[in-house]
Amino acid sequence: LQNPPVKNIILGNSESSTFSIQEQTLPPLDKGDLLVQPIYLSNDPAQRGWIQRKLDEGRLYVTPVLQGQAMATHAVARVLATAGPTSTWKEGDLVYTTTTGWRQYAVVKEEDVRSLRSIPGLSPSLYVGLFGVPGLTAYFGVTEVLKLQRGQSLVVSAAAGAVGNVVVQYAKKVIGASKVIAIAGTPEKCAWIKEMGADIALNYKAPSFKQDLNAATEGFVDAYFDNVGGEILDQMLTRIKQHGRVAACGAISNYTHDNLDAANLRNWFEIITSRLTVKGFIVLDYFPRAGEAVEALSKAVEEGKMTVEGAETLVETDFSNIPEVWLRLFQGQNVGKLVTQIAGA
Ligand code: NDP
Repeated sequence: LQNPPVKNIILGNSESSTFSIQEQTLPPLDKGDLLVQPIYLSNDPAQRGWIQRKLDEGRLYVTPVLQGQAMATHAVARVLATAGPTSTWKEGDLVYTTTTGWRQYAVVKEEDVRSLRSIPGLSPSLYVGLFGVPGLTAYFGVTEVLKLQRGQSLVVSAAAGAVGNVVVQYAKKVIGASKVIAIAGTPEKCAWIKEMGADIALNYKAPSFKQDLNAATEGFVDAYFDNVGGEILDQMLTRIKQHGRVAACGAISNYTHDNLDAANLRNWFEIITSRLTVKGFIVLDYFPRAGEAVEALSKAVEEGKMTVEGAETLVETDFSNIPEVWLRLFQGQNVGKLVTQIAGA
């Protein structure tokens, strides 16, 4: 693999394109290194934030990707070679890693990879979905941030996506929420998320959405799992019971445009008058407890309370097409987790 050079997709430095392809010769393996080949790439809305440096860097929760560096991602990769016979890993092992970036091949540190618990009949790609960042975000968001209890009601936005569908399923079918109201962007997604357990699904692009949401939340709800921010969050602040909770998980409606007017919360005062608790969280803080979440989620799947059927949009593609697939997130082209499978890997 040292010759010919392998390809990386790097953050470009021109105005005309965000990414470009660069060739690189791989370094030799040092003690503790693994040579890996990414197979399944996670596509995350958060990657948008890793490359935009409007924020003070000291306030970012990850090391930002700089111009000329390979774009960062989470991935399931195959071990191709180890540095020596003492390694815990062997050729052919599948691992979860956050340090390959958008690279055809990468040299990573042993301490930066996690083994996958192989569950018969389930695809390893689930380690960037249900058993990866989205699943853990949903699990800790519902159980720790919202502390949702059996019999309570919940609204979740971006509900037919990677995090959202797990929130719906776990809240309804594992915790036993009394009512789960899902918000998604098409009638097809609404129909699908109802199949996954939502009691009510609302299309936020429908002209009647505001009235529909008011009607669905009559009597108000206990909790809101916010994946989108913006106008939906603003309206939801008026639909939560006194002393209710908001899990501030994401704000995708603000990620791709500079007009942040839509992010202004006209109903901020509702937080005060209704004594709401709004709690922001980053799943990375819960990574030391990943085993607990994977255990709970896999048990729910094994017991038939949750399903992975249809909860993944797997796109097999050439290496050079990785950015295009990622952009589908912002166009709402995914149902469940959007996963890139590198063709031929
Ligand atoms: P999804 O799989 O939900 O994909 C993104 C979805 O967002 C799209 O399919 C689209 O669905 C919806 N969307 C896109 N643009 C808009 C918009 N302008 N307004 C409303 N919805 C929109 O992604 P994830 O599940 O991976 O992430 C969901 C949210 O959770 C994101 O905000 C993400 O940043 C956040 N997140 C936070 C984490 C944390 O640690 N706090 C960790 C992981 C994710 P539709 O067709 O319904 O519009």
